[in-house]
Amino acid sequence: MGVKNFHFVTNGTLALQLSLRALDITEGEIITTPFSYVATTSAILWERCQPVYVDIDQKTLNIDPSKIEAAITKKTKAIVAVHVFGNPCDIEAIEKIAKRHSLKVIYDAAHAFGVTHKGRSILNYGDISICSFHATKLFHTIEGGCLVAKDEDIYNKIELLKRFGHNGDEHIQLGINAKASEFQAAMGLSNLKYVADIIRERERLTNLYDQYLDGSIIKPKGSTRVKYNYGYYPVIFNNTEKLEMVMEKLNSVNIFPRRYFSPSLNKLPYLKVKDRCPVSEDIADRILCLPLYVGLDNVTIRKICEVIKK
Ligand SMILES: *Cc1c(COP(=O)(O)O)cnc(C)c1O
Repeated sequence: MGVKNFHFVTNGTLALQLSLRALDITEGEIITTPFSYVATTSAILWERCQPVYVDIDQKTLNIDPSKIEAAITKKTKAIVAVHVFGNPCDIEAIEKIAKRHSLKVIYDAAHAFGVTHKGRSILNYGDISICSFHATKLFHTIEGGCLVAKDEDIYNKIELLKRFGHNGDEHIQLGINAKASEFQAAMGLSNLKYVADIIRERERLTNLYDQYLDGSIIKPKGSTRVKYNYGYYPVIFNNTEKLEMVMEKLNSVNIFPRRYFSPSLNKLPYLKVKDRCPVSEDIADRILCLPLYVGLDNVTIRKICEVIKK
């Protein structure tokens, strides 16, 4: 991946939790995005911190940096941002804000395995970046994940945190068991040699979708300085009714696209504070990820596109 200070752990959710612990964040407010998989928020809540949602950019679907500063209070400790669908956040803007307010930055790069930004792995950014190697992700170890720490001391601290906090008989600090197993490692090694081919094939399928849909539907906007991994193919409908019509029609011919991501996380029923995020709530109601995997055939892609266009 072209990174140093790399830890292989049990899953991406524990990687997020370890990130907060490693940066000594055990209370307070964390600025985060409402448009992600639920684990981004649940890791924050599980560590007894308060998520504060900042709305997303309509085009990139990532946290909108121009809205971050208004959400910062005396209790704010960190920003947890997500490179949604592998599309990098506005890293420079987020870094500037974090510096100005002495905040830590954690990137949830669960979708971004193999993505590079200006020629460097996207996992090099922030105080810590994490990735997930769950079976549904582009590269997988059945269950698994990683952390990449900018700082050597933080890297060493995570080494202790992830395996019970002791070195032999010397008990140094509180730790937990987040070690990945050798079986997971073996699965990872088996898959790793195919990653380049997997990304190439996904790119081909993505181009086919683009060709068949022929601009008939809105797609999130990517950045030009990025090498993508083609992990997802999200499309945005004009309204929920159209999305549901397409889902129903596709389901009737045994095609099962996923509503990534819905609901908008600020609407989770177990949150105590209800932030409003109109852009994220609106997008969550009308976005669908179309099937994208190695083995998907041209005929099926054409069929999906015909249903959508009709
Ligand atoms: C999958 C995912 C996670 C959680 O990773 P696990 O390895 O399943 O724990 C976290 N954040 C995002 C954005 C994800 O897609």
